[in-house]
Amino acid sequence: MKDLEKKARAYALKNAIAYEGHARIGAVISALFNEGLKKSDVSKYSKKINEIIIEVNSMEKDLQEKEFEKLKEIISERSSREGLPELPNAKRGKVIMRFAPSPSGPFHIGHALTASLSFLFVKEYGGKLYVRIEDTNPENIYAPAYKMIQDESRWLFENIGEVIIQSDRMELYYSYVEKLIKKHAAYVCTCSSEKFKELVDKKKPCPCRVLTMKENEGRWKKMLDSKGFDQGEAVLRFKSDIKDKNPAMRDFPLARINLEKHPRQGKKYRVWPLMNLAVTVDDIELGMTHIIRAKDHRDNAERQKKLYKVLGEKFPWTGFLGRIKFKDMELSATKMRKEIEEKKYSGWGDKRLPTIASLKKQGYRPEAFWKFAERIGISENDKVLDKKEFFTLLDSFNR
Ligand SMILES: [Zn+2]
Repeated sequence: MKDLEKKARAYALKNAIAYEGHARIGAVISALFNEGLKKSDVSKYSKKINEIIIEVNSMEKDLQEKEFEKLKEIISERSSREGLPELPNAKRGKVIMRFAPSPSGPFHIGHALTASLSFLFVKEYGGKLYVRIEDTNPENIYAPAYKMIQDESRWLFENIGEVIIQSDRMELYYSYVEKLIKKHAAYVCTCSSEKFKELVDKKKPCPCRVLTMKENEGRWKKMLDSKGFDQGEAVLRFKSDIKDKNPAMRDFPLARINLEKHPRQGKKYRVWPLMNLAVTVDDIELGMTHIIRAKDHRDNAERQKKLYKVLGEKFPWTGFLGRIKFKDMELSATKMRKEIEEKKYSGWGDKRLPTIASLKKQGYRPEAFWKFAERIGISENDKVLDKKEFFTLLDSFNR
């Protein structure tokens, strides 16, 4: 018992240091399970543990830290930082990360939790966080989202986020296309998508793959020219390994013609870079050192790695996050939008909606989201939360 009490005290100190002086009994008990505490013994010890926590929580932070330094040798989890792990290859003052939402809907809690992790690393190590609005698909844009993302980012990230809008950088993407064509790493394919898929599924190249660099330059000009190719007639592809065991890697597309009117650029551009091209160019140009992304983007990360390689650049450290699913909370922007239009909600700030606009209005502070993100950490496990659980936690972090 004496030994366990000492360990309980060490964990209470550790938890208190990580959470502004307030250790919680749940965190201490779950840590003690790793030290041999049996579930059947919890009721026997909980009174004592609770006394320890009350005592620890009444201490000044510097005293908590001093005592933890002495006690930490006896426990197996010694870092006083919870949730936020060490960032590999991070240089002080030089960590560059990004939060890259598409403007298809409002800023919601899913964004806030993943983006806060990148923000916390930049805050911890020093560097820069870019907020990059990825709007190169003219068909998937909800115009008011530009302002919402910027406003909410400035609120959530202490004004450190510099905002980049991809559709302002089209000439840059075009210049990279020219580079890739010159390196024989990209070609313009005029096959129908069915035909291309049929060939590539059999690991066979389409006829366009053998075009010369000059021929590709000519075809690229025809993509940009309104009197040239029409929408759907040509697509720029990356020349990868046609026999790659993952079919998604084989000669994936980089840019396409889309004549839809863009909410910010109007009809100025007809060729739009696809995500992997735009993301790669910006990550290189902005000097990204670390990227935290959803694990659903694993294939995209692999594609971008191939582009980096051809361009002779070093791929940033990449961490993947599992999905956060809410059992009883709707995060679909399309659905929320429809219901706002139907007047079911008063707007994006309606307090029944899980948007940041709404939570901000209800008095939640940015720190609550940071703590939540820290608690989740960089983990590839999917998490399922229900609304009540989520708000209980968020409320406790908001205090
Ligand atoms: Zn082709």
